[in-house]
Amino acid sequence: MSFSSTGHKTVNTRPVCKNIISVLSVLDELVSVFPNTTLYTVLGNHDPYPANQMPYDTDNTAYYKGILEKSNWDSVLGVNESRHFHNGGYYSATISEKLRLIGLNTNLYYDQDRLTKDLPDPAQQIDFLDKQLQEARKHNNMVYIIAHVPPGVFELGSGLTWFYPKYNKQYLEKLEEFADIISLQLYGHEHTDSFRVQFDAEGKPISMMLLAPAVTPWKSTLPGVGANNPSIRLTTGKMGWPRTMCSTGDDWQKEYDTSDVYALDELRPAKLHELARAFTDRSNKLFQHYLQYNSVLWAGNTECNETCHLHHLCAITQLRL
Ligand SMILES: [Zn+2]
Repeated sequence: MSFSSTGHKTVNTRPVCKNIISVLSVLDELVSVFPNTTLYTVLGNHDPYPANQMPYDTDNTAYYKGILEKSNWDSVLGVNESRHFHNGGYYSATISEKLRLIGLNTNLYYDQDRLTKDLPDPAQQIDFLDKQLQEARKHNNMVYIIAHVPPGVFELGSGLTWFYPKYNKQYLEKLEEFADIISLQLYGHEHTDSFRVQFDAEGKPISMMLLAPAVTPWKSTLPGVGANNPSIRLTTGKMGWPRTMCSTGDDWQKEYDTSDVYALDELRPAKLHELARAFTDRSNKLFQHYLQYNSVLWAGNTECNETCHLHHLCAITQLRL
């Protein structure tokens, strides 16, 4: 789960215990609904207090250790994962003999983090990622990457970007280097439902990122962004097919299955690239579906003029800043 579970509006002045209570209650709920499922948590930029300011010093483990203990995440993450987490809010976990999951703290690259501006490698996370990916390649493992803040551009924010440009480049280069073993990347943060296709220098689609919408319903204060209904993304089955649940009233219900609404027979970068190509026609029904789901069925966001259309296309296919 990628946490956007704490309230956002007054987060900078919100007492720290309220953040912890929010994170704890979401965790409790997930544990009770999915009692026999292993949960992997990643930090959201609003989860700690104060928001966005993640420290980068791996010698000082008290900050991330404190988060782990107070949030009870150490009860769902294993001993090894927790030990890694102390260094910078990141970890690696073995899901099966052939599959490894790497949970990253990409809040360290968020340009709202004043502590990490212009460092060689905040919390040495890229170094950690590199070592984990090398290890995975050596053992013929495939890798899932999960994190909160995605690289690239927000599709609704008139060119709004998240990472510092230097970290955006550094991060994408590392992902590109190991794209052959990274089968899926999952992110949150935007509250919207979208995806990204990463290309190599020759323009070949090499990796894919799914951006899950948020549990938290909200109306953004950013101009033109609008609102979203609450939702939960379930990634199920061998191929990791995503199903999205939504709530537009009192009850939760299935919103859609990715394979059905986008007519995808496989979930891989080339297929999502084909889908993005279909989106170049603004009237295409697949793009119309995407618009509906982008805000989790919040009707106000389905009007999309030419500029809006271009923002979506560029955000999906252009991750470099
Ligand atoms: Zn966020």
